[in-house]
Amino acid sequence: MNDQEYAYDVVVVGGGPAGLNAALVLGRARRRVAVVDAGEPRNAPAAHLHGFLSRDGMPPAELLAVGRAEVARYGVEVFEGRVTHVERADPGLVVSLAQGPSLRARHVLVATGLRDELPPVPGARERWGLDVMHCPYCHGYEVRDAPLGVLGTHPLSVHHALLVRQWSADVVFFPHTFALTDEDGERLAAREIGVAEGEVARLVVEDDRLRGVELAGGRVVRRDAVFLAPRMVPNDALLTGLGCEKDGNGAVVTDPAGRTSVPGVWAVGNAADPFAALITAASAGAGAAFALNHDLVEEEIAAAVASRHRGEAEAGALTG
Ligand SMILES: Cc1cc2nc3c(=O)[nH]c(=O)nc-3n(C[C@H](O)[C@H](O)[C@H](O)COP(=O)(O)OP(=O)(O)OC[C@H]3O[C@@H](n4cnc5c(N)ncnc54)[C@H](O)[C@@H]3O)c2cc1C
Repeated sequence: MNDQEYAYDVVVVGGGPAGLNAALVLGRARRRVAVVDAGEPRNAPAAHLHGFLSRDGMPPAELLAVGRAEVARYGVEVFEGRVTHVERADPGLVVSLAQGPSLRARHVLVATGLRDELPPVPGARERWGLDVMHCPYCHGYEVRDAPLGVLGTHPLSVHHALLVRQWSADVVFFPHTFALTDEDGERLAAREIGVAEGEVARLVVEDDRLRGVELAGGRVVRRDAVFLAPRMVPNDALLTGLGCEKDGNGAVVTDPAGRTSVPGVWAVGNAADPFAALITAASAGAGAAFALNHDLVEEEIAAAVASRHRGEAEAGALTG
C-alpha cells in the first residue's frame, strides 16, 4: 500500500479538548486528519468550565463548538459516532465506527476520556456537576465561603477535605464508609473541619438545589455543595483491544508524548491520565501532535530513502 491509499494520516478517536487540540495541530501541519466523536464529554453536566485561560466561564459545549470550527478551517473531517474497534491493517490501522464507514489511517490517536463512577449515594448522580463535584480547582471558587461537605468515599478523601478547606472556612467531613485514623482526626481538627459521623443516607435536594446531607439516623447537616472523589475509569477499551501495555495501576503506559507500547497508537487526555484538566488535556493533545507529525516525517524520509536506493539498484541492474 502506498501513502495515497490511506484515507488519513491520523484518525483521532474522541473530540474533547485533547483530541481536538491534537487535530488542530495536525491539520495545521497539513496532515489528513479525521476526528470521530461520540459527543459525551466528561464535563457535560457542568454549566460552565473554569481554569482555562481565555475560556474561563464558557459553557463546555461552546468550547467544543469553537474547537470544531477551528479544526474545520484546516480540512479536518469530524465524524459524529462511536468507534467500536481499531485493528491493525498492516500497514496502518482500520478504525471502525458503530454506524458508518471504516477509516484507514497511518496512526491512531485515542483521546476517549474517562467515566466517573459515583458512590451509590442517592442524589449524587442527579446533582453531579451542579452542586456535587470533585474538583475544587474547577468549581471551588463558585462556592467559596459556602457551607461545604466532603464525602469519605475514597482513600484520599481526608486530603480532599483538607484541600476544599482552602475555599471555605465551613467544611464538614462525612466519613460515611471511611475509617478515620487518629492522625486524620487531628489534621481535620487543626483546620477546623467538622466531622459528621455515620453513614450518609442521601443528599437532600429541594427546588433543584442541594440543601444538605442526611445521615442514616435522619439528621440533616445543611450544606450548599458536596465534594466527592469518583472512581475514575479510563475509556481505554480500544487501546487494550490493540494490546497496549498497562502499568500496575491499570493505566495504559505512554511516553511523555503519548506514544503507547503499540507502534502508531497514541493515547492522550483522561484516557491516559485521569488527572488531566481541560487545559492540560488540550496541551497533551498538542504535544502528541508535534511528536506524531515528527514520526510521520521520519517514516516518509525512510520510505523516500528506500525508494531512492531501489531506483539506484534498478538503474544499476539495467546498465550493468
Ligand atoms: C462535572 C465535571 C466538571 C469539570 N469541570 C472542569 C473545569 O471546569 N475545568 C477543568 O479544567 N476540568 C474540568 N473537568 C475535567 C474535564 O472534564 C477533563 O479534564 C476533560 O474533559 C478531559 O478531556 P479529554 O479530551 O481527555 O476527554 P473528554 O472531554 O471526556 O472527551 C472525550 C470524548 O471522546 C468521546 N469518546 C469516548 N469514547 C469514544 C469512542 N469509542 N468513539 C468515539 N468517541 C468517543 C466522548 O464522547 C468525548 O466526547 C470537569 C470534570 C467533570 C466530571
